[in-house]
Amino acid sequence: MTIAAHPLVARARELADGLLSPAAERVDQEGVPASHIEAVKRSGLLGVSAPVSYGGSAAPAAVVRETAEILAGACCSTWFVQTQHQTPVLTLAGTDLPVRERLLGPLARGELLSGVAYAHLRSYPRIPVRVRRAADGWRFFGTVPWYTGWGLNDVLLLAGVTEDDEALFAFVEAREQPGLRPSEPMRLAALSASRTVSLDLDDLWVPEEAVALRTPYARWAAADRPKPRNAGPAVFGIAAAALRLVEEEYAAPLRARLGEVRRQAYELADHPAPGEYAEERLALRAEAFTLLRTATTAAVVAGGGRAMSLDHRAQRLAREGLFLLVQGQTSESRTAHLERLAQWHRSSG
Ligand SMILES: Cc1cc2nc3c(=O)[nH]c(=O)nc-3n(C[C@H](O)[C@H](O)[C@H](O)COP(=O)(O)OP(=O)(O)OC[C@H]3O[C@@H](n4cnc5c(N)ncnc54)[C@H](O)[C@@H]3O)c2cc1C
Repeated sequence: MTIAAHPLVARARELADGLLSPAAERVDQEGVPASHIEAVKRSGLLGVSAPVSYGGSAAPAAVVRETAEILAGACCSTWFVQTQHQTPVLTLAGTDLPVRERLLGPLARGELLSGVAYAHLRSYPRIPVRVRRAADGWRFFGTVPWYTGWGLNDVLLLAGVTEDDEALFAFVEAREQPGLRPSEPMRLAALSASRTVSLDLDDLWVPEEAVALRTPYARWAAADRPKPRNAGPAVFGIAAAALRLVEEEYAAPLRARLGEVRRQAYELADHPAPGEYAEERLALRAEAFTLLRTATTAAVVAGGGRAMSLDHRAQRLAREGLFLLVQGQTSESRTAHLERLAQWHRSSG
């Protein structure tokens, strides 16, 4: 079966064209509505990577990327809320702990939507969230700086570092409770609609049965490190959406280069050794961002003064492109990106 013919790709297109794209500028200003989340839950897309035996589709990586491009190009805020679900699904699929039987089915079938709070692990040796052993479970302390989907998702996969330097991930109900207090939703340059908050954790007790992963920090970090090096599908989805706002004679050369960078980036993403070709991956990621910026700039230029209106598509896509620059950014990708930005001007100066 070709990627385009996969039923989940067709489902993503229906959702994008029928619901997400027409509402995207309003959603950008007012927030992702519960009705969008219900539609995502019904679509089957939440189970795109989940095992078939639990009600998911176990679709190939190319289908996962294609559906992400389609959703992100239609409404980045809705895409971002629902994409958080993928890490919890993959974490559950990879564990034998009891929480798998409790949650993998409901997550795979889209009955429950999960968020994640783990990016702060990457700031180690700074430890924003600490976990201590307690009777029948664990206690969480600290601050999660970013948590998306508050009020929209049902559960959250929360991570911290234990006293023995382990990364510990556990599922928690995504609601205010003793030991867990959200901030007000953040007002951001983009993605305010994603209901992103910070979480204050003050002695949040989590039972042992809720633990999904507990492993030495160094082992978790070694597996995580390669992931943020790859250019993500949302970059290509938003760039393509921006180019649709530009006359074809100007869009065509940009689209051709974007297609080439996309092909190379996805080829590397599919490479069986994720730790290899780090430099090439980071270089493609930086070029994809440059193309995204060029595409959204072209869309703003093409739109003229009207492009500054908050209900104009071009300015929304340009702001969403800004957000993608820092989403999932690590110390390594930050340095590599800054180095590239400086290098282009060193060589042309
Ligand atoms: C709108 C929004 C929503 C998000 N939602 C979620 C979510 O739901 N769940 C989740 O887990 N994460 C979420 N994130 C976090 C996101 O994925 C990234 O991890 C985060 O943006 C990384 O940047 P930071 O600056 O916050 O982290 P930081 O820890 O401050 O920095 C990121 C990396 O850069 C390095 N660094 C920072 N400053 C410097 C410097 N001056 N010099 C050298 N190195 C430096 C740090 O060591 C670190 O590795 C969200 C982010 C945003 C913006």
